[in-house]
Amino acid sequence: MSTQPLLIVGSIAFDDLDMPSGQYRDVLGGAATYSALAASLVARSVRVVGIVGDDFPEQHLADLRARGVDTAGVERAKGRTFRWHGRYSADLASRQSIDTQLNVFADFSPKIPPAYASSPFVLLGNIHPRLQVDVLEQASKPTLVAADTMNFWIEREPAALAAMLERIDLLVINDEEARQLSGVHNLVRAAADIRRRGPKMLIVKRGEFGALLFDDAGTFFVPAYPLEDVLDPTGAGDSFAGGLLGYLAARGEVTPATMRQALFFAAAMGSFCVEGIGPARLQAIGRPELAARIASFARLVDRGGELVLPG
Ligand code: AMP
Repeated sequence: MSTQPLLIVGSIAFDDLDMPSGQYRDVLGGAATYSALAASLVARSVRVVGIVGDDFPEQHLADLRARGVDTAGVERAKGRTFRWHGRYSADLASRQSIDTQLNVFADFSPKIPPAYASSPFVLLGNIHPRLQVDVLEQASKPTLVAADTMNFWIEREPAALAAMLERIDLLVINDEEARQLSGVHNLVRAAADIRRRGPKMLIVKRGEFGALLFDDAGTFFVPAYPLEDVLDPTGAGDSFAGGLLGYLAARGEVTPATMRQALFFAAAMGSFCVEGIGPARLQAIGRPELAARIASFARLVDRGGELVLPG
């Protein structure tokens, strides 16, 4: 199989970030932004659907296009761009949302350009589950539909969320969300419960503790790449999802083997993301850095041959 187009739908934002290292204002952010930046490092055709206000610099979109991202699906509306203000703890282990201003994102109703409708790979970023389904109504039989969601929708829109789950192939969420969605603490049991609700495949992200894939081939684990310097975890999950889908779209097929390879690629993207403030590091790297990190990752998990049981 050969490389296939990937459609990404989600938020595009300005973030204000209070980090232990300082305060950063008007940083380019949003789930779709991080996912597209990560995916574009490996996939040749990445299409973004999102919304920005009239305050959003054209240069940000031009930068995405310079990386091969198609931004024709980014709507420009009258008003201000979505803004999020987050404050991290000194050890970066937790964060607080200080302020969320939906602005033009409040009325976002994703319109999929006709040229995008047949995208074989689709990543539905964290938006209202009803809107995620709306996107699928406008798409024609994708090979793989992956989605993200968050506690807000799990608590407030259980029916819409259930309808969304029935229509996707892969759900990518964190461990807290998996527990909340299933009502089960044990992650293996939680995964089985969630997979009964629709998605055949589930990825549970566990931050610095790696990620687990649950699919018909079994359970698979990828560690997080151990880093000496972590600057900003914002967008790591979205970079992970973008890297995952980007890899699968580039390979053009979804098998247990390509899924497992994609998880390494995804984890590598998450690791790059946290090395810079906002998307700075993701924007700076190219194929050489990527190849080096993939090679380091392979060494990280190289067990030196087959495991033997001595004696
Ligand atoms: P993550 O760290 O992976 O959760 O992603 C953080 C990004 O998500 C930031 O760039 C924010 O702009 C964006 N974001 C924060 N809150 C929301 C929300 N309610 N809906 C969509 N995107 C959001």
